[in-house]
Amino acid sequence: KQQMARGLPKQKPITGIKEVIVVASGKGGVGKSTTAVNLALGLMAIDPSMSVGLLDADVYGPSIPKLMNLKGNPELNENNQMIPLTNYGMPCMSMGFLVDETAPIVWRGLMVMSAIERLLRQVDWGSLDYLVVDMPPGTGDVQLSITQNIPIAGAVIVSTPQDIALLDARRGAEMFKKVNVPVLGLVQNMSVFHCPNCNHQTHIFGSDGARALADTLGVKLLGDIPLHLNIREMSDRGQPVVVSSPDSAEAEAYKAVASAV
Ligand code: ADP
Repeated sequence: KQQMARGLPKQKPITGIKEVIVVASGKGGVGKSTTAVNLALGLMAIDPSMSVGLLDADVYGPSIPKLMNLKGNPELNENNQMIPLTNYGMPCMSMGFLVDETAPIVWRGLMVMSAIERLLRQVDWGSLDYLVVDMPPGTGDVQLSITQNIPIAGAVIVSTPQDIALLDARRGAEMFKKVNVPVLGLVQNMSVFHCPNCNHQTHIFGSDGARALADTLGVKLLGDIPLHLNIREMSDRGQPVVVSSPDSAEAEAYKAVASAV
């Protein structure tokens, strides 16, 4: 009560977790979840001694089950905590494990908050060096309450180079600054299209928008991910490129982001 009176929300660490990195975007469809998955796997790829987990906090449109080729209901431990499902050596938790995949998730604000609270507090992660959190897109109440609930080492913001996506990304960056979460940097996704047939490169969404935005916001550009058929196909199969094509240029691009984080 006293803390609330002073206007300081209490950020309680998640048991067993050293650092939380959130992956955010100003809007949907820019490749946030794909980046979160490959970043988390990339952290393990560049340092196999690292233990990394992945939390899908996108409760409205959970995509981690598909991207990580995982489904099923988590078992409970003796303390009634959910045990994450694991694939590619990475423990994962998602609302998608708890609700019917095909059911539309139409929730009221309070239900969303209690679901988030459960995903943040009632999961038995064991001990992890990093927990990568795939945030819901945008800058609403859910995002804000996550940042106020747990200590966050930093935020990675994913954007395409298109002006509108960049405007939204900027809003995201400003939100994190306001709640004192360090913005680790921007990831520019789909910046250049590599034609698999002729190797021609096309800047479909413009070339360097994210770099300009990173400069304006005074944050790092953590990397550039090309628009690549292999990324989309492998993601749809639940085989992220960092593990399915580890030596490809696409995988290297994600690993470069992981090293820069
Ligand atoms: P978000 O989480 O921002 O809504 P997703 O990660 O779900 O976006 O990506 C949206 C779609 O774009 C998916 O089909 C995904 O496979 C595809 N995608 C994301 N990044 C790339 C990329 N660099 N190249 C090709 N397809 C991509």
